[in-house]
Amino acid sequence: MEFFEQFGTNLSKKGKDVAKIAKDMSEVFKLNSKISSCEETIKTTYEQIGKKYYDSHKTEPAEEYQALFTKIADTYASIAHYRDEIQSIKGVDICGSCGAKMPVNSSFCPSCGIKREENASSPSEATTEDITKEMDTLKEEIFEE
Ligand SMILES: [Zn+2]
Repeated sequence: MEFFEQFGTNLSKKGKDVAKIAKDMSEVFKLNSKISSCEETIKTTYEQIGKKYYDSHKTEPAEEYQALFTKIADTYASIAHYRDEIQSIKGVDICGSCGAKMPVNSSFCPSCGIKREENASSPSEATTEDITKEMDTLKEEIFEE
């Protein structure tokens, strides 16, 4: 009898241990996710500090920041360059009246509202023509032999 009593006690003790471990684990999980969110806050705050410093010292960065400032300026230039490329791929026209960029398929300038000139050259059509010409040249080259 004593053996079974002992066995029963051990079992319920084991059960408590398992429950405690599960509870501890979920507690640790919660704390870890709190740490992650704190680290995220620190990261975005650092970014804000950096952006503020950059904006207010753009013209005269302290010497130790010069390389980093150049890196930021160069990267902004890259973004502007890639945006230009996207616009030329999408086919953007310049408004003859106000000089704003306007999509080739729009009938009115989104900036000044003037009607698009009927005979305005369309970069996307030119591109299609270029591609057709290019393909004809390729065909000739392939079939000539
Ligand atoms: Zn315009």
